[in-house]
Formats: sequence, structure tokens, C-alpha cells
Amino acid sequence: MVEYTPIQDIPTIHSDLRKTFRTGITKPYEWRRHQLLQLARFAQENSDALAECLRLDLGRSKQEAIMGDVSAVISRCLLAAEKLEEWMKPEPVVVNSPLQRGFKTSVERHPKGIVLIVSPWNFPIILSLQPLYGAISAGCCAAIKPSEMSPNCSAFLAENLHKYLDPSAYRVILGGVPEMTKVLELKWDHICYTGNGRVGRIISAAAAKHLTPLTLELGGKSPVIIDSTADISLAAKRILWGKIFNTGQICVAPDYILAEKSIIPALVEALKEHYHAFYPNGALASDSYGHIISDSHLERLKGLVEKTKGTIVFGGTWEGKARRSFEPTLVVDVKEDDILLEEEIFGPILPIVAVEDLDEAIAFVNNRDHPLVSYIFSNNEDFKQKFIANTTSGNVWIGDTFQQVGVSEVPFGGVGESGYGRQSMKACFDDFSYQRGLVEIPDGIEPFLTARYPPYTEGSLEI
Ligand code: NAD
Repeated sequence: MVEYTPIQDIPTIHSDLRKTFRTGITKPYEWRRHQLLQLARFAQENSDALAECLRLDLGRSKQEAIMGDVSAVISRCLLAAEKLEEWMKPEPVVVNSPLQRGFKTSVERHPKGIVLIVSPWNFPIILSLQPLYGAISAGCCAAIKPSEMSPNCSAFLAENLHKYLDPSAYRVILGGVPEMTKVLELKWDHICYTGNGRVGRIISAAAAKHLTPLTLELGGKSPVIIDSTADISLAAKRILWGKIFNTGQICVAPDYILAEKSIIPALVEALKEHYHAFYPNGALASDSYGHIISDSHLERLKGLVEKTKGTIVFGGTWEGKARRSFEPTLVVDVKEDDILLEEEIFGPILPIVAVEDLDEAIAFVNNRDHPLVSYIFSNNEDFKQKFIANTTSGNVWIGDTFQQVGVSEVPFGGVGESGYGRQSMKACFDDFSYQRGLVEIPDGIEPFLTARYPPYTEGSLEI
């Protein structure tokens, strides 16, 4: 049983962080770099323990734990330490007005202050520590509020991070809604929230009271569009992998497929083939397959397969509450009003929707909230470009699923209902920094400024 942070301690944690920030210790380059390297060390030295926490919380295999959460923390913290000096450099600004050419102009990036990081249960380590390396890089103090739904991971962070990072600058607050409600009463200088849109609205409303800027990393239904020019077998393998990793509990999991009618039989056959290759004895018997986070999420998924009017090709079963397993499930003949096409599935159910052509696919996507990712499988350049030009999504990922989130240098985030703000490497640094414009006007340009002083006379200012 994880012990939550006593509610009466939360304002003290907050004011301690504020005091630390005001001392200025988090600002120097050397100090930030050291904390980044320490964070990499934390993930490296505790990789086995973190993998075990992920197994307990999500039933993840060690490979999925390392691939999905741990290795990215190590590599990105090391890379951030390497890039930090460059990120911190003031950016010179070129001015265009001839009158202002003698001014000294630049933009500096300064830390926003004390920041709050609220993370979810599905990737509880990377989604807590990615914003944290951003906050450290930017020179901020931070409190992390990890999810109560992944108690082993959250408790591990609370019990061990302070052994590596300066505890006066970085804290972990454990708890559920009552603790979060207290946390949200306080004034933070930036909040980075990753989770669902319903809670995103609660966080936004709380932040608005203090005019606190926000990053909202939310979810949504990420569509896959595939045409006949794609390598169907390879596409099926890559789509299926993105749907079974972490049991489909990924914000960027392919939510549904839009496929031209003519290719659906081949696509279904290929998905079946790869499914059997991944799990020769069935997914529910495999150690390579995780489980659903909670009973309520399992019940939600059961409800979806019970209520769908589509045809189940494989899957649609579960083992029972003890291990909260849910079999990868492929559903075809799914119509536009089906329950599978309402909310984000966030589990291993994959519906295929037949479309006549690209125009119908574009209209289908545009009739829904903007997704976090749009996936394209096609070898036709015009097809790709037309889809990209006529739809809106946080990211466009072509030719594979989920793997693209590992490309550290490309900023990641949503648009509209899938959120706003950007994460990963410099985007994280930028998120927790503010741009301070510097303009210095030298004494020597005084002769050019005479026209601005009264008394004003006719003709003294010529435009
Ligand atoms: P969750 O239930 O763990 O909640 C996330 C955080 O919100 C937790 O720390 C929790 O304590 C807090 N919270 C919950 N209820 C609250 C309340 N009433 N008031 C204040 N705080 C509250 O996680 P979840 O929301 O189920 O996460 C899954 C969602 O997150 C999915 O929609 C998924 O797509 C999205 N997600 C997005 C990204 C991304 O990078 N865009 C990444 C992962 C998950």
C-alpha cells in the first residue's frame, strides 16, 4: 500500500520549491548539467527495478519496459546534457529598421520558476521524467505528481529520485484526486499535464485562476490510412505492433484503420498471420503480452466488444480479473456510428473501416476531433501529400506506428482536443523557459533620436 503525501504537507513542498528557486541554485549551466547526468544515472542504475515496477503495474515484459520507458530517459538526459550549452545561448536578433541597427538585440531563455508535472499511468516513467529533464534543462524547480493508478512506479520515483537529484529542487507528490485538488490550488509557474481531456479541463480551469501557462499532452483517436500501394504485409505487422505494445494503452496507438475496400481481405489475412507469429500460443498465454491497468478499464473494453456491431475476426476474449488480460481483437465491417468509433479505445481492439477512396477517408477524419497522430501507409506521394494537406493532427507518422515517438529531435504534441504545447528535447527546454527580449540602446546613437523630444515642430518627423 503506497502512502500518499499528507495533504497538509503539500503547501510546504510548494513553498520550499519557491524558496529554492529564489536562491538561484538551479540556474547555472554546470548545475543543470549535473542534475541531467544524475537523472540519466537514476534510470541506468535502476533499470531492472523500474522494469519490475512496470511489470507489476502493467504486466509489461522487460523488453517493453526498457524500450517504452527506461532507455529513452537515459539517452535523452545524456543528449540534453550535451546540448544544454547550445540551448542556453542567447539568440541574436537582426533588426530591419535602419534607425535601430545600432541597437544590441537578443532573446534569452530564462526558467519560468517552479513547475508542476502531472503524469499518467500508461508510461509512468518516461512521462514523468521527460518533462522533468525539460524542467531541469530550463533551470526550473519541479514537483512531479505521478499517477495513483501505477502505484509501484509512482512509489519508486518518490522513494528513489531524491537519492540522485537535489531534493530541495525536485520533489514527488503522491496521491489521488484530494491531493491533486490541493496541488491545483497553488500557484505554479507552468503545469505540464499528460492524461485525458476530462481532467485536462480541470487542470486548465485551475491554471486559469493563476494565469499559469500549460502544456496539455492529451489523447484521442489516431487514425491509420492505408492504400493499395502500401506493402500490406509489412504495414499489418507494424500496425499490429503499435496496437499490442503496452496492450494498446498508448496515447499514439493506431486507434482505427481506414482502408480501401479492395485491400481489406489481404490486410485482414496479414494481420492474422502476424498475430499468430507474435503469439504462437495466443496472446493471453504469452509473457510478451501485458495486462489492462484496472478493472474499470477492463470492463470498459469488454463493453466495447459486446456492443460493437462489427464482425470480430480474432480476439474478443479475456482471461478474468486476476490478471486483467484482454486479447488483441480485430474487428471488421465497422460502420461510422459504431461504439468503437466514439471514444479513444486505449486498449488492444483494432477496428477496420472500409472507405471508397481518399476523399472519403479525409472527410471521415475531419468529422472528428483532431487526433494526436495521423498514420499513413502508402507508397504514393500524391496520396500522402493530399491527406496531409487536407487534415489536421498533432503529428503525421508515415510507414510505421509508435516507433516515431522515439525520434528525440522532432517536437511531439497535440492540436485541438489532443492538446497543446510540445515535448521532447529542446521542445521541453523551450516549454519550461520563457523568452526574454533584450534591447540595449547605446548612448552613441543619440543624434538619431533628436526628433522624438519635445517641443515638437512642424516637419521635425518625416516618414
Ligand atoms: P490517469 O488516470 O493516471 O490521470 C493522469 C493524471 O491526472 C494522474 O496523475 C491523476 O492523478 C490526475 N488526475 C486524475 N483525476 C484527476 C482529477 N479529477 N483532478 C486532478 N487530477 C486528476 O491517466 P489517464 O488520464 O487515464 O491517461 C490516459 C490518457 O492520457 C489517454 O487519453 C491517453 O491518450 C493520454 N495520454 C497522452 C499522452 C501524450 O503524450 N499526449 C501520453 C500518454 C497518455
